[in-house]
Amino acid sequence: MLATIASATLLGVVGTAVRVEVHVSNGLPGFTIVGLPDASCREARDRVRAALLSSGRTWPQRRVTVNLAPTGVRKTGAGLDLAIAVGLLVADGQVSPKVAHDRGFVGELGLDGSIRPVPGALPLVACLDTASVVVAPASAVEAQLVERHEVRVAGTLAQLLSCLCGDEPWPAPTSPDDLPPLAQPPDLADVRGQPLARRALEVAASGGHHLLMTGPPGSGKTMLARRLPGLLPDLDLPDALETTRVHSAVGVALPPGGLVRRPPFRAPHHHASAVAMVGGGGARLQPGEISIATNGVLFLDEIAEFHTDVLDSLRQPLEEGVVRVARAELRATLPARFLLVGAMNPCPCGEGGHPGSCRCSDAALARYARRLSGPLLDRFDLRIPVNRPEPVDLVGGVGGEGTAAAAERVAEARQRAQARGVRCNSELTSRGLGQMAPLSEPAQLLLERLVAEGRLSGRGVQRVRRVALTIADLDGDAPLLSHDHVAAAHALRTQPACLAERLAV
Ligand SMILES: [Zn+2]
Repeated sequence: MLATIASATLLGVVGTAVRVEVHVSNGLPGFTIVGLPDASCREARDRVRAALLSSGRTWPQRRVTVNLAPTGVRKTGAGLDLAIAVGLLVADGQVSPKVAHDRGFVGELGLDGSIRPVPGALPLVACLDTASVVVAPASAVEAQLVERHEVRVAGTLAQLLSCLCGDEPWPAPTSPDDLPPLAQPPDLADVRGQPLARRALEVAASGGHHLLMTGPPGSGKTMLARRLPGLLPDLDLPDALETTRVHSAVGVALPPGGLVRRPPFRAPHHHASAVAMVGGGGARLQPGEISIATNGVLFLDEIAEFHTDVLDSLRQPLEEGVVRVARAELRATLPARFLLVGAMNPCPCGEGGHPGSCRCSDAALARYARRLSGPLLDRFDLRIPVNRPEPVDLVGGVGGEGTAAAAERVAEARQRAQARGVRCNSELTSRGLGQMAPLSEPAQLLLERLVAEGRLSGRGVQRVRRVALTIADLDGDAPLLSHDHVAAAHALRTQPACLAERLAV
């Protein structure tokens, strides 16, 4: 007898509907699974057999063939276990075919018959067009975010079969509102002094400009970077869903409500591999840090210590907002639109810029300067020095303005940018910039002078102009750019002394 059960498989952050066809016939007992299963998918036989026996069911002493359709799509992971188990019981006549009518099944089976969550429940359920879906209790919140299915959960295969046959009521799935709250994000009020860095954070958040901070250890670069997501506005629904899909696929804890409404913050260690950073790991092309940070902030502390290959792999995503990953014959496009914040010491010993205290040789300094490529450095529209806070700020000073007040200005500036048809000013093309941000005469003269003096390149002109527009937005006087806006934007683009020679200005 043949049974067909609806399920799904994951590639990158996209689910594909899979029809699990189970055929049980007389003949030599055996179990075959076909239709491009990967290794963990092929192992379903052993998990399903143990789960059936643990649930008081019998394993058919007959010939079992499982076909995963469409056969051209590679099936990854253990998420098809549940569908295979239900299909087997239906095909063997142990359960009525009615239980699987218009119902999808997504979940991994433990040997004890428990139903376990699989990564990517949100995209997996989203691709199913059945009226009802059954998932592991821990996947219920993600499944409910799709808002199209009657979501059913069961903790074990035995419980599932009882519920399917109407012998016991379905347990209530966890509501998205029952998720535990995440830790409160840190507040700018904790930062003492640092007026330049505060301003740079606000400009970065408003315009989506990538930020590089150079300063000695203990100057508070990490503390500042962690406060940047708090300045960004809530994600709109499409962006929130996009980020939630990635977090679901990777298994990052979701916030109360299930939907990732706040911009994420990711700070991978400088030992991170290229795969961990850009994604493409495992058989299902798992997203990397840059995708998990999508619509949020990617913070690279000690950016000069990252492997050169890892840094170079950021350039294409920074340009396009997506990353294409490939492995064998598999390909996936993953979202990767993030605000990049880099932090570095001015030199290997960290004391660069302080004559007398810096112990680095010229050769060591030159090697250090070579670690960041010119094209990557060029992506940073904002480059600021961060110095250790003054003792007077640390001891007697009061905390500065809090995140809420600054976030309000950022939200207003972003609204002005959105009126230009972009999310933020960093997305404006050169042409759009020419139309939307006219230069006053003094501003034009200043830019010409900076170029004539060799302090700004042709490409730098457009970048300074975008930042100037963001500053004008923050001050509420866009779109005409004044001399002061341009001067302020250029001042936020100082070259780290150690790298000055290598930077395209
Ligand atoms: Zn040094």
